[in-house]
Amino acid sequence: MEIENKDIEGKKSLNFIESIIEEDLKSKKNKEEIYTRFPPEPNGYLHIGHAKSICLNFGLAQKYNGKTNLRFDDTNPEKEEVEYVDSIMEDVRWLGFTWEGEPRYASDYFDQLYKWAIKIIEKGQAYVDDQSPDLISQQRGTPTQPGIESPYRNRTVEENLDLFTRMKNGKFAEGERVLRAKIDMASPNMHMRDPIMYRILHKDHHRTGDKWCIYPMYDFAHGQSDYIEGITHSVCTLEFEVHRPLYEWFLNNVYSEGTIKTRQIEFARLNLSYTIMSKRKLLELVQSKFVSGWDDPRMPTISGLRRRGYTPESIKKFADTIGVAKRNNVIDVALLEHSLREDLNKKAPRVMGVLNPLKVVITNYSEEKEEFLTIENNPEDETMGTRELPFSRDIYIEKDDFMEDAPKKFFRLAPGKEVRLKGAYIIKCEEVIKDNSGNIIELLCSYDPESKSGSGTEASKRKVKGTLHWVSAKHAINAEVRLYDRLFNDEDPAGYKDKNFTEFINPDSLKILKECKLEPSMDNAKQESRYQFQRLGYFCVDKKDSKPGTLVLNRTVPLKDSWSKKLIRGTN
Ligand code: ATP
Ligand code: MG
Repeated sequence: MEIENKDIEGKKSLNFIESIIEEDLKSKKNKEEIYTRFPPEPNGYLHIGHAKSICLNFGLAQKYNGKTNLRFDDTNPEKEEVEYVDSIMEDVRWLGFTWEGEPRYASDYFDQLYKWAIKIIEKGQAYVDDQSPDLISQQRGTPTQPGIESPYRNRTVEENLDLFTRMKNGKFAEGERVLRAKIDMASPNMHMRDPIMYRILHKDHHRTGDKWCIYPMYDFAHGQSDYIEGITHSVCTLEFEVHRPLYEWFLNNVYSEGTIKTRQIEFARLNLSYTIMSKRKLLELVQSKFVSGWDDPRMPTISGLRRRGYTPESIKKFADTIGVAKRNNVIDVALLEHSLREDLNKKAPRVMGVLNPLKVVITNYSEEKEEFLTIENNPEDETMGTRELPFSRDIYIEKDDFMEDAPKKFFRLAPGKEVRLKGAYIIKCEEVIKDNSGNIIELLCSYDPESKSGSGTEASKRKVKGTLHWVSAKHAINAEVRLYDRLFNDEDPAGYKDKNFTEFINPDSLKILKECKLEPSMDNAKQESRYQFQRLGYFCVDKKDSKPGTLVLNRTVPLKDSWSKKLIRGTN
């Protein structure tokens, strides 16, 4: 991992991609322009790895005054859907980036790609192969053994043109013929062993309908799409490094003088501990209903993170912090959570919320009385102001904040012990009320009227060991709170040959609490607004299920970083 390298003057030093770009700018390559693109295949929702790539591509263009295209790499008609296209656009916008002009589609280039295929055939550099895809793949050989040349490799240009035209016109069945580049069956680079350029698929495409029954392979479409758009720097993940010679081969075959020749730069894809990042596996989680959908708050998708309560800024900061690496590595998911906490600490208003309520009656506080305490909304940011919090005789505290037989180090409430109610008074537990089965149902406490926080009295300055959050019972608002834990209980759930990743699903990854009590200011909490519940963590009003009158919140992260099963964390 490369964490923010800073040079002597404290400026962030360039990462290797920025260095390449600055070299290119200095040498006046590409008319001094920077043009990047983000090219998702619309076959799933975007995840945090894509977010990294988005931040990188759009970030580079922003830094160097350039432009970025959003391009859907929709060369495969089988798996692509409009739902995915829409979600991808929404996610990129939510992250705060704007692409140049309209979104592009590789399918818009099908005509141009077809013309180029013809041109390559005419140069004698591509041929139609009548063998089955299986046979072709058997003939590819191994990295140490050369492949076998197809018996159709030396067809005449005329014959190839005729067959390719008939392929396009729907004269053959799927798998009956393919178009292959004629490169080198003995190349040490397997991708250069006469790769397939076009295959027959009698399938409608989500954009081109039934216009085509031959579709270009990704490897033929991708580089040419970059070239068509005038992309100067095509940033992609490391697995494409070995494809680069092929992309260059294609480009050299179609290149015209005076145009921009795209430069491909590879970086290591983001891997996160405890996280699955393959779209296919994420789809399996959705289809097998391990999660409620692509935007389930436990998913590493951008829409899931958003629903969970992540901010775009925290994701961008995370992407920036991890930097770009040239070797594959695994980043600790705790780093992502850290970046989130730092951001929310600054932004999230503090409120009182009790997740597992226990009623407390303050016996020496008049039943008729209520008072309003002035409380800061965020001690980290004065400009966020204050609010009035009601206090009355009956309040709720957290069940776990009381123990009948408390050990010495338990600095919360216990019989005969005192605690401070945050922003309010010191109370003392006088009596424990139980039901017939011995469950604690209520506490009777007394309060010290002189001890009001901020009142300046001796008693207000008195130090007691614990401070608890609380909510006035008659003013409280009911809410459902969903607590999330990691979806997998193994650091590398997809890393086992003999085990399926679904075996590592954490059975306790979701806990729903339906009886939570929140302070009355939460009454008009809007969907997607984020709060810090004092002592408990950060919470976000659910984007889908929360409605006026039925408040539903997701716990975004606990306050402290520990992958702990404990709901309430000690004092303070
Ligand atoms: P697929 O297996 O479906 O191709 P993919 O994750 O590569 O999955 P794409 O839609 O092709 O998905 O990815 C779009 C862009 O995002 C590509 O440029 C890809 O390199 C980049 N990308 C995908 N996953 C990651 C990741 N984990 N880290 C960084 N970039 C990624
Ligand atoms: Mg891909």
